[in-house]
Amino acid sequence: MSHTTSQFPRPPVLFCDFDGTITLSDNIVAVMKHFNPPGWESIVREIISESKTIQQGVGEMFALLPSSMQDEVTSYILNSAGIRDGFPELLEWCKKHEVPFYVTSGGIDFFVYPLLAPYGIPADHIYCNGSDFSGENIAITWPHSCDGECDNGCGMCKTAVIRRFPKDSYYRILIGDSVTDFAGAKLVDLVFSRSHLTDKCQELGLPHIPFETFHDIIRHLDLGGRQS
Ligand SMILES: [Mg+2]
Ligand SMILES: [Zn+2]
Repeated sequence: MSHTTSQFPRPPVLFCDFDGTITLSDNIVAVMKHFNPPGWESIVREIISESKTIQQGVGEMFALLPSSMQDEVTSYILNSAGIRDGFPELLEWCKKHEVPFYVTSGGIDFFVYPLLAPYGIPADHIYCNGSDFSGENIAITWPHSCDGECDNGCGMCKTAVIRRFPKDSYYRILIGDSVTDFAGAKLVDLVFSRSHLTDKCQELGLPHIPFETFHDIIRHLDLGGRQS
């Protein structure tokens, strides 16, 4: 019996970013743009230029918003976020070929879980940051921060998740678009990239395939991750 994934040198495993990858745009940036608390733009610039860690920057941006805005912020995201084409089909592909699929998100629980709820992904396959609305301002919590092998200040450390799948045993594939994916992209066998992540992969010479929809990714996965 022929098996699609036998075209990979080792069993593939997928690590997929959430903001700007599963969703059409970055929800954290969208919230900041919409509610526009003074100071958020310079924090984003510092994160993108890597002069501030993601953990510092994301924590600082949400701390600009009062906890009393919880419902407003949540419903803004749930009503405005769109899901990229082909996402359910990619999940179907993974199920069919028994390829593990993990959401590795630098986003926050209060919007990641509700937006993913329709897709039936097991909760232990979703990694993201947490939130605490009990104080004056919104506080982000970090249940999956960097371990001893990463000093990047990731917030949600994608490299820690990826390293649980040894490179000798798995063909590790990262799907992403931006700064939260940079550290993980350096570890994996193949990157499906958009936006800033494509630029970063080019700059560092990392094996990557630019994509627009998840249908593009399925097409390449059917070819064993080859570029044609
Ligand atoms: Mg992203
Ligand atoms: Zn890290």
